Amino acid sequence: MSSPGSDRLTRARAEMERGGIDVLLVGPSADLRYLTGYDAPQLERLTMLVLPASAEAVLVVPSLERARALDHGAAGLARVVTWDETDDPFERVRAAAGEPGRVAVGERMWALFVLALQERFPRAAFVGSDAVMRALRMRKDEGELDALRRAATAADRVASALAGERVAGKTERELARWISEALVTQGCEHAAFAIVASGPNAASPHHEPGDRVIEPGDALVCDFGGTVEGYSSDITRTFVVGEPPDGFHDAYAVLAKAQDAAVAAVVPGVPAESVDAAARSVIADAGFGDAFIHRTGHGIGLEVHEDPYIVAGNAEPLAPGMTFSVEPGIYFSGRFGMRIEDIVAVTEDGVERLNTAPRNPVLLS
Ligand code: ZN
Ligand code: ZN
Repeated sequence: MSSPGSDRLTRARAEMERGGIDVLLVGPSADLRYLTGYDAPQLERLTMLVLPASAEAVLVVPSLERARALDHGAAGLARVVTWDETDDPFERVRAAAGEPGRVAVGERMWALFVLALQERFPRAAFVGSDAVMRALRMRKDEGELDALRRAATAADRVASALAGERVAGKTERELARWISEALVTQGCEHAAFAIVASGPNAASPHHEPGDRVIEPGDALVCDFGGTVEGYSSDITRTFVVGEPPDGFHDAYAVLAKAQDAAVAAVVPGVPAESVDAAARSVIADAGFGDAFIHRTGHGIGLEVHEDPYIVAGNAEPLAPGMTFSVEPGIYFSGRFGMRIEDIVAVTEDGVERLNTAPRNPVLLS
């Protein structure tokens, strides 16, 4: 695994200066991986990047994790300081951090550690790391875009293969397992998630695949993704098994139009919420407004859900390098549901669809 380079630490320091932040403290998380390349395990033993505004970066790790941190290339960007089982790791943090007035802590950090830090820095004001990291992580560089494209291609291939599968008679759980294995076969490090929702279960957007047997007459929502170099894909395709339920095709035509309208609305400079509005107005005009029960999308990168969120109220202007899902859905409780999801990237003058698998509802047997 290659180190991300010192440029990200430099940019993080520039954001810290803007926010008047004296030190950034980051535990195992996407933030840590983004800054140092180290994909550290979440443990009760403290691992922490200490990034002071104007002193050297230090990575505090338990002695037994040192080799792993070095394997991930972290030593190229921060001085690695270890602690043994009977040492106080927070003393290492304090030695590297000095006497900060304003501390930014990783937003995914366990309360266990945040509380201990507050005790060690009693006079400091604490803010969340988003004040530093949000601006950096929201806009992807070429290396990140490349990983996201490869993850999307793997998901596209699985979606296309799925269209040729015989699914009637399988349980949702069996099909979810098939999808997860196919993602790895297509080049993902691992499957991040696989939702298979059949028949009335398809009306629940985050349905947990269970023992229901897929049968003719079902709408089938499959939503899945896997990671490449830590960057995730996330695609949803809706299939029909045999004869579709009443009203399916009419609603699907509206949904496809809404998804196209939302993707077409992606242009640098427009507020994120306008992409949501583009999808929502098509669905509302067709009379299905109450059946579109979630936001239109979410940013994606080292985390499956991250900024920017494509939702009413988010005025964040879209900018080149932002990547997010466009995934309107229509759900009829107790009957069926449908969703179309692609990942898109904002370009200098418009939009790139990272997913290209066919979006028409394929008839499965
Ligand atoms: Zn999804
Ligand atoms: Zn999604």
